[in-house]
Amino acid sequence: MKTQFIYHTIERLGELLKIAARKAGAEYGLQPVQLEVLHYLSVCNRYSDTLMAVTEYLGQTKGTVSQTIKILEKKQLLDKISDLKDKRVSHLKITPKAIALIKDKIPTTMFINASNHLSLTQQQGISSTLQLLLTTLIQSNNMKSFGHCFSCRYNAKSGDSGYFCNLVKEPLTEKDVLLICREHLSNK
Ligand code: SF4
Repeated sequence: MKTQFIYHTIERLGELLKIAARKAGAEYGLQPVQLEVLHYLSVCNRYSDTLMAVTEYLGQTKGTVSQTIKILEKKQLLDKISDLKDKRVSHLKITPKAIALIKDKIPTTMFINASNHLSLTQQQGISSTLQLLLTTLIQSNNMKSFGHCFSCRYNAKSGDSGYFCNLVKEPLTEKDVLLICREHLSNK
């Protein structure tokens, strides 16, 4: 069994990614968790940009995430927008300043350097293997997948070019289906 070896490899990768992310965030005066929140909000859809969804995704307490959000608001990296249908719900929208920051720092320079040393075939192989590991980890532990919308069971093609969500009963754009979602349900 290779379980121990796989675990140690992933753990080491995780540590190296954290070191690089800490360094990248520090250049903008951000703590790692603040950068993680901004990154999550830059890739999630409109059904997943709430305080509760961020809390679930990061596995942090509600108090920690609330505090982080307050700091990001003060730094003008994030705005709270009330939901049009339900005023009790706030959506967390990152500002253009935060979008530029994420574009500059994620993936980190360290990661891009490593990736550039791999051939396209190697990158595709690593991507499939990691995806398999992630899916297995999530499914075997009954966790939320937070997967990409295009791979969701509720995602249906509508007409020639559009998409439709059979869960929330709303149309989706081509951009929407590339984002991750709190309600995602795997096709498998
Ligand atoms: S199709 Fe699935 S992933 Fe996409 S918005 Fe609906 S529930 Fe979320």
